[in-house]
Amino acid sequence: MDLKTQELIKQGKMLPLMEEFYTIQGEGAHTGTAAYFIRIGGCDVGCHWCDVKESWDANLHPPTHTDLIVDNANKYAETVVVTGGEPLMWSLDYITKQLQEKNIKTHIETSGAYKFSGVWDWFCLSPKKTKLPLQRAYEEADELKMIIHNKSDFEFAEKEASRVNDKCLLYLQPEWSKRDKMIPLIIDYVMKNPKWKISLQTHKYLNIP
Ligand code: SF4
Repeated sequence: MDLKTQELIKQGKMLPLMEEFYTIQGEGAHTGTAAYFIRIGGCDVGCHWCDVKESWDANLHPPTHTDLIVDNANKYAETVVVTGGEPLMWSLDYITKQLQEKNIKTHIETSGAYKFSGVWDWFCLSPKKTKLPLQRAYEEADELKMIIHNKSDFEFAEKEASRVNDKCLLYLQPEWSKRDKMIPLIIDYVMKNPKWKISLQTHKYLNIP
């Protein structure tokens, strides 16, 4: 990669774009809402059940001018969801500023394991055991989304819930490949612990991206 591209990436004026698409947010607090998804490559958090492993190697995803991504989003949506990969591996100050100047709401989905950047209308934190969030992510979280892959994940979810701010919404979401086994446990858990709500990957049931 040439020096100019490296510098633009550092400034957030280019990002390793994996894909961008207009769809319906399937998960969490904004389920059912139309949004433009911007998936940025690069992640070393290493969840063994990850359903976007092809995002992990940032070098496979072409550095793309952020202004172009913003222009594309502006053709479709009032809300953008920046996801990955792990989007906070990159500086997101520039993209969020450009989006908000166009009156587009900025949402992020992140493990919170990297330095905070960007200005967010909605911050969805999904902590992973393999690389825990940094303190700032717990402070910023509007929504805590805990993935339940096995029984011990309930304990981890409670631990993470004790770290977020008081206003943060709490969601338990079954990991897709274990959903048949985990959904009954989650239903039971939420009825006993009603501070939590259930999040399902409804886009997968709807067969949309
Ligand atoms: Fe996959 Fe997200 Fe885990 Fe990274 S943090 S490995 S993208 S599920």
